[in-house]
Amino acid sequence: MEFSKIQELVAQHGTPVLFLSESRLRDGYRNLKAALPGVDLYYAVKSNATREIVSILNTEDAFFDVCTNGEIDILKSCDISADRCIHTHPIKRDSDIRYAVEYGMPWFVADNEDELYKFIPYKDKLRLLIRMSIQNPGCLVNLSAKFGVVPEKTWDLIIKAHELGLNVGGISFHAGSQNESPLKYIEALEYCRDICKKAALKGINIEVIDIGGGFPINYLTPVLPMAQFCQPIVDYLDRYFSSYRIIAEPGRVLSGPTMTLATKVMGRSLRNERWWYYLDEGVYGSFSGKMYDHADYPMFLERTGERFNSVLAGPTCDSIDVLYENISLPLLEIGEMLIFESMGAYTTASASNFNGFPKAKIVVVD
Ligand SMILES: *Cc1c(COP(=O)(O)O)cnc(C)c1O
Repeated sequence: MEFSKIQELVAQHGTPVLFLSESRLRDGYRNLKAALPGVDLYYAVKSNATREIVSILNTEDAFFDVCTNGEIDILKSCDISADRCIHTHPIKRDSDIRYAVEYGMPWFVADNEDELYKFIPYKDKLRLLIRMSIQNPGCLVNLSAKFGVVPEKTWDLIIKAHELGLNVGGISFHAGSQNESPLKYIEALEYCRDICKKAALKGINIEVIDIGGGFPINYLTPVLPMAQFCQPIVDYLDRYFSSYRIIAEPGRVLSGPTMTLATKVMGRSLRNERWWYYLDEGVYGSFSGKMYDHADYPMFLERTGERFNSVLAGPTCDSIDVLYENISLPLLEIGEMLIFESMGAYTTASASNFNGFPKAKIVVVD
């Protein structure tokens, strides 16, 4: 969007405001579909549960990955049929399973023996994916630190589920979020291959391989184009998994690029010879991703000129609410607007209204 267009919308809606680009969302979905031909894409609602995102993706015939009753309620409100959905939380209460089963969800995830027993009362109504952990400490967010059974124990867990009369239909993994390369997917798929061979011998019908999320987007450093990133994964799948149904759970790559934040300088203060600017959005709001997701967002401002070492802080009274220390900025005026891109994933999703500052308004554009 042009700066002048943003200014016009900001005059209408105020700040802080997140502009949701419908065309970017559709383009991103189609781009990933093209990069992963034949793979069913289950949008990870966790990354951004904004109802408009879910309903736009629904019109693209996307599938959905949800973890909680609250996320299920969003799908219901968008009239999404349960057979297009997967429940991916590895740890659930009976009431969680019951709620999702009553909705009609066909697929659930487990990663440990205790969890298996919880499915016994529902065993004719659902199928299981066993979630394998793939360690990726180099990644922005390691999604196997908390969940997943180690690859060496995955087969034992599948056998246990089978012995309990549960219907194991697949293997899932999450290769870590914002991957720089597709290597971890290949590593995981190698383990899957080995397990699938054992399953075939034992007559266990593994039909689905779920390659999870983790596809990267441009923040401050550009990443590989999606087609290039996915090519080695596609080649591997074509070679070894052509008779399986392949699904993925993309979150960030779909929601991340879709939102642009406009925020304004509320006030400023020269403290210890450094300009402090207090914005109307901070880490308790859309910048929560700086804390939880370890992400950093590209910033744009219209003003040019001599730059000074400055601090950008959020609006709340908490000292932790600082976005950038030692950032070089021209002298900003009160009321001046700053724009941040790639603000769609793990931003508004984890924002709060701490200290009485409401969450940024979301406005759908183009
Ligand atoms: C968070 C999450 C995702 C989405 O991951 P991205 O890195 O945002 O693509 C997918 N699957 C599961 C199980 C998750 O927890």
